Amino acid sequence: MRPARARAAAAAGTLRRSGGSAAPPQERGRKRASRRGGTPAAAPASPPARHLFSDPAEVEALRGNLLAWYDRCKRDLPWRALAVTEPDADRRGYAVWVSEIMLQQTQVATVIDYYNRWMQKWPTLQALAQASLEEVNELWAGLGYYSRGKRLQEAARKVVSELAGRMPRTAEDLQKLLPGVGRYTAGAIASISYGQATGVVDGNVIRVLCRLRCIGADSSSPAVIDRLWDMANVLVDRSRPGDFNQALMELGATVCVPKAPLCGECPVKQHCQAWRRVEKELAFASQKLFGKPSPVPDVEDYCVGDCPLCPPATEPWDSSLGVTNFPRKAAKKPPRVMRTATCVLERRGCHGASEYLIVQRPSSGLLAGLWEFPSLPLAQDLQEKEREELAHHLQAWMGRPVAAKGLQFIGEVVHIFSHIHQTYVVYSLRLDGDVTLDPALSPSRWVTEDEFHASAVSTAMKKVLKAHEKQRRKESSPVKGSKRKRGAKAQGAGSTCPGTQLSLRAFLRAPTAP
Ligand code: SF4
Repeated sequence: MRPARARAAAAAGTLRRSGGSAAPPQERGRKRASRRGGTPAAAPASPPARHLFSDPAEVEALRGNLLAWYDRCKRDLPWRALAVTEPDADRRGYAVWVSEIMLQQTQVATVIDYYNRWMQKWPTLQALAQASLEEVNELWAGLGYYSRGKRLQEAARKVVSELAGRMPRTAEDLQKLLPGVGRYTAGAIASISYGQATGVVDGNVIRVLCRLRCIGADSSSPAVIDRLWDMANVLVDRSRPGDFNQALMELGATVCVPKAPLCGECPVKQHCQAWRRVEKELAFASQKLFGKPSPVPDVEDYCVGDCPLCPPATEPWDSSLGVTNFPRKAAKKPPRVMRTATCVLERRGCHGASEYLIVQRPSSGLLAGLWEFPSLPLAQDLQEKEREELAHHLQAWMGRPVAAKGLQFIGEVVHIFSHIHQTYVVYSLRLDGDVTLDPALSPSRWVTEDEFHASAVSTAMKKVLKAHEKQRRKESSPVKGSKRKRGAKAQGAGSTCPGTQLSLRAFLRAPTAP
C-alpha cells in the first residue's frame, strides 16, 4: 500500500468530496501563499475539519449518546457513589481527589480495596492531615508511585492549615493551590465534585479522541496534547460535566481499549473517523472482490499539505491495524537498568518464628521513606564482586565484619518501575539469637512475616521475601534439603525471647576470609 500522502497527492485532481472541505479556506490560502515564495513564514497550520468537533449538532449528539450509554453501563465504583451521595462539598471534593490520585497509573480493580481502606481510616481532609507519613506509606504500600500518597497528605495539610479546610472549587484554583494536583486532577475534581464545565485529558481520553478524530501525530507532543484539551473542553456536556468526563474515560477503559476495541458496541461509533475509515476500506475491499471498479479515495481521509495532527508521511495509515492506528506515540526511552544487592537478615524470634531486619530508606528519592531489606545499589564496576560489596555494606551498617562467604545467594528478582528496570540480587544471612540495633544508625527494626507485610514496604521487597521463602522451603524439603536443614537448625538455634537479649556483635558469625 502506498503511503497515504502519496496516494492523496496522486489523487489530488480527482478527489471527490462527500461533504465538508478537507481544509478550511484559511488553511488553503496559507498553502498558496507559501508556494508563491517571497512571503513571510506561514503560521502553524490549522488542522482540517475532520480533526475537530466543529459541528454543534454533532457535538450535541455525541454527548447524548455517550451519556445515555454511561447511564446504562457505568461500573459501580465507591468514589462514584460518594461523589453523588456526599452532601458536604469539601468531603465530596476530597473523596474524588483521593480516587483520582490513586487511579493515576493504577488499575481500577486494584484501587478499590485501597480506596475503601483509606476512606475508612481518613474520611476527611482533617483526619488525613493528622496522620503520620508512616501510616500513609503503610496504607499506600503496593499501589506504586509512593510519592503520590505523600503529596496527597501534604496537600491535605495545606488545605486544613492554610485554606481553613475548604477545598478550592474550580479547576484553576485547585491546580494553583494544591501541591501535586495537575491539570487533569484539577479538572476531574472540579467537574465531578463541583459541576464545573471543564474537560479532562488522561490516557483513556487521549486514545478515544485520537480515534474519534484520526489524530496520528505523536500524542505525547505538547502540540497534540493542547489540541486534545481544546477538544475535551468543547465536548464536555454543560449540564453534566462530571458524568460526561467519567463517561469518556469509562469508554476508553472498557470499550475503546488499546489493543482490541469493541467498536461494534461503541455508543459513539457514528462520530468516529477511525471507525468510518475502516468501514469504508471494508466496503472497498468487498467491491473489489466482486470485480467492481475501485472507488476514488475520499478527500476526507487524507490531508493534503502539512497537517499537524495527521500521522507523519513516513508512518502512514496501516490497514492491518484498523482503528488501532491511533493514537501514536514517539518511541519511549528505554528504562534505566539497575542492579541492587539486597540481604534478608533473618533471626529466630520468640516462639521460634523467623524475624527479618528492615531499614528505612531516605525521605526523598525513589521509594522515599519506605522500608526495605538492607540493600546496596551496584555500580557497573562493582557487579563482579557484589557479594563482597554487600558484606562490606552490612559490616559498615552493623559495626562489625561480616563474612562474604556467609551470605547465601538466593536468586535474582526483577521489578519494573515506570522508568527503571531493577534487578535485586538477593542474599540471605541467618543470625543466631537476638541483635541489639544501634539507634544511631538508620531507622531499622525486626519484624515477623505478618509485620513485614503490614509495614510500608514496596512490592519489590515483597517479591524479595517471597524468593527467600521459596528457597527456605526448598531447603527444608526432606529429600534435597536435609543437609541444609541441619545447618539452618544449628545456626538458628538462638531465641530472642525476653531475657535472652544479646548484642549484634555477639551473634554475627566470626569472619572468615572470603
Ligand atoms: Fe473507539 Fe471504535 Fe468507538 Fe471509535 S468506534 S471510539 S475506535 S471503540
